[in-house]
Amino acid sequence: MTVSTLGLVLLYNLRKVQNMRRCTWVLALVAIMGLCVLPAAAYHEVGPTGEEGRCAGLNMADNKDHSIFLDSSVGGGMRNAISAVRTESLDPTTIETYTETDPSGYTDVEVFQAENSGTYICGVSWSGVSGVAWCTSVTPSLKCEKHVVEFNTDNVSTTTPNRRRWAACQELGHTLGLKHDKNENSCMLDSFYQAPNTYSQHDRDMFYNYY
Ligand SMILES: [Zn+2]
Repeated sequence: MTVSTLGLVLLYNLRKVQNMRRCTWVLALVAIMGLCVLPAAAYHEVGPTGEEGRCAGLNMADNKDHSIFLDSSVGGGMRNAISAVRTESLDPTTIETYTETDPSGYTDVEVFQAENSGTYICGVSWSGVSGVAWCTSVTPSLKCEKHVVEFNTDNVSTTTPNRRRWAACQELGHTLGLKHDKNENSCMLDSFYQAPNTYSQHDRDMFYNYY
């Protein structure tokens, strides 16, 4: 299980350098093989991974009605960011979001905020992560019954309204089955320096096609 399939948002140059090294290796391999194989999937969806539990994996949401519970640990800045993503980026698509005042078994996303830098989450130093999402229970058809999202508001990526909105956009995107991509037109790009704080047309097409 790689870090990126967990939906971890890694922001530091060290990670970038590692990715570039990995990328160089892949390019070298492709050159050796003499062909370039692009992913066959038309969209950047996670698909039915069937994985559940803390730090395990992500799945597609079970339906288009996406209820969100914000734990009392979630601060005002992040609440505003989530609200903006809901009303301006998700609700205009086929996704219909709403909030719940109490979590239940039917809640689709439970959101928490943790500021304890210096600890580790899912094997990664929390201080280098702006947010994480994972599925806590899957349906028989391997859709996700409930995702959990945690934001780190101590991270450099969540220090301004725009950055918080990028983080909220990406984590909520994960809860609908979007994975990271390299598209600079999408908040699913894993770099707040370059990414916008909303979804690409490609992402929205996925919502329209699957929900
Ligand atoms: Zn992510």
